[in-house]
Amino acid sequence: MNKRLSGFVLISGLVLFYLVGAVACVQATELKVVTTFSILEDFVRQVGGERVEVRSLIPVGADPHSWEPTPKEARLVAQADLLVANGGGFDQWLVDLQKSAARPGVPMVYASQGLLVLEHDHDNDHEHHHGGDPHFWLSVPNAIYYVERITDALVALVPEDGPYFLARSQAYLAELAQLDKDILSQLQQIPPENRVIVTYHNAFSYLAERYGFSVMEFLVENPEAEPSPRDLGRLVQVLKQQPNPVIFTEPQLNISNRYVQTLAAEIQGKVYVLYSDSLSSTITTYVEMMEHNAQTLVEALR
Ligand SMILES: [Zn+2]
Repeated sequence: MNKRLSGFVLISGLVLFYLVGAVACVQATELKVVTTFSILEDFVRQVGGERVEVRSLIPVGADPHSWEPTPKEARLVAQADLLVANGGGFDQWLVDLQKSAARPGVPMVYASQGLLVLEHDHDNDHEHHHGGDPHFWLSVPNAIYYVERITDALVALVPEDGPYFLARSQAYLAELAQLDKDILSQLQQIPPENRVIVTYHNAFSYLAERYGFSVMEFLVENPEAEPSPRDLGRLVQVLKQQPNPVIFTEPQLNISNRYVQTLAAEIQGKVYVLYSDSLSSTITTYVEMMEHNAQTLVEALR
């Protein structure tokens, strides 16, 4: 073999090696999962690791209550092997998208299906919004339930990757159980008489129930709508009765901040940020989000 020919053989061998390697990689991450929002995306990634490619339809930092899918999201759904929604009326639009865009037989998991829905019992004349609070994940035991359901779906879909998914899932569930314990003990620093929160939208009933708070009031029943002067007036009255008025806002609700700042100025209260419906560029996982929320609650109410 002359020099030039052996060089060619060597290079084609390398190219072949890389091609085979690339194909193997593609196969290993072939399972495409689409979720409705970023917190579910994190849960799928924690369990699925490098063997799933997961995409959230609602971008990080967007408000899921006013978000609507476009043809771009329909294309992502068309490529998916598994769809993961929250359920409870939070992301009902995925049902339509599944009908119009998903391949036949592609399974859909409602992560919250089977959990008990909490309704906020108002003792005022707030218009009642039916269906209750869909933000189950803000209590860590509910997040554990979500992760178990996601694990079951992944294992059922690719049984040969079952041991891989189960090992990752177990490690993550242990982390979540520890997180729950840590939050419970951290929040003990807050005296019982301060365990009252006022928030922008009705997102915190599960957090309140699990960690011993009461959600005294929230500004809007439905975050798609802006608060009315009457809503604002009612909240001012509620907050004025507090010795140290505090109101919690949420980063994904752009319209909320203006109202909350106005309110806080009126009552000389303080504003703190709790994460509810979305991760962000600085809070990139569910665990970080819940740690942030616990720290914020302690700082605001201690
Ligand atoms: Zn919400």
